Amino acid sequence: MKTPGTCYIVATPIGHLDDMTYRAVRILQEVDLIAAEDTRHSKILLQHYGIKTKLISAHAFNETERVTTFLERLKNGESIALISDAGTPLISDPGALLVKKMREADIKVVPIPGACALIAALCASGLSTERFIFEGFLSTKSAKRLERLKILSEEHRTIIFYEAPHRILKLMTEMASLFDGGRQVVLAKELTKKFETFFSGTAKEACDWLRENEVRQKGEFVVLVSGICTDKEEILPKETLHILEVLLTELSVKQASELTAKITGHKKNLIYSIALKQEH
Ligand code: SAM
Repeated sequence: MKTPGTCYIVATPIGHLDDMTYRAVRILQEVDLIAAEDTRHSKILLQHYGIKTKLISAHAFNETERVTTFLERLKNGESIALISDAGTPLISDPGALLVKKMREADIKVVPIPGACALIAALCASGLSTERFIFEGFLSTKSAKRLERLKILSEEHRTIIFYEAPHRILKLMTEMASLFDGGRQVVLAKELTKKFETFFSGTAKEACDWLRENEVRQKGEFVVLVSGICTDKEEILPKETLHILEVLLTELSVKQASELTAKITGHKKNLIYSIALKQEH
């Protein structure tokens, strides 16, 4: 019986063609077959690196049938590399079924790490990297999106989304209405490309920034949002804290908190607990 081949999960660039590892190039040269999401798209990358390995399509719509043929070829000793259009396969990209079935069939699955938009965005965002969650793309259905965003409005970890350019303003508008105004939003746009841009501000400021110039709504986006801060002072805007500070010089903690809540619309209990801290 032949020794089965290996299935490599190979990360490719998310924009800048130079973002390939030496190992990724070598593996793509050495394998018998490269399974690509879009063979025409991947040809550009392979040509850039002089890789002549045979390409075959493996996308969301033919994954089930491809699994059968790939399994057969791997069992016959061939090796296969799976790549997607950009970044790491299986991350908001096809391949999950393939990897599951390979593992079930005891085929060796080897990751070849490299570019991934969410990690590139996170490490340069300035937001907390200690704990984070990846939400991928939200549902395109309004009710489902809002339901998910409401749940996430209570999240303490940094949240990372992928979003399509034609929905980026919609997402910022939804966040501005559902998330606490003090939460920091980062739009990481066109990463590794010529017009790479990072915008940081509140969701409301992000809406204004996107509306100011419609060209800003074009391109690829990773959206990051800070989690609810456990240090409550940080989730109230500076102006609210200032009002509270001024009122505390003249009024009792209770009166100053009530009045600040009335003026700003923020929760009385939250303001009260901050006022107590400021008093001491
Ligand atoms: N597998 C990819 C990865 O590892 O990041 C993600 C594929 S997913 C189909 C495509 C989405 O990833 C885009 O809509 C965008 O949200 C994000 N993305 C991919 N490349 C990007 C880039 N250069 N800059 C910003 N976001 C990017």
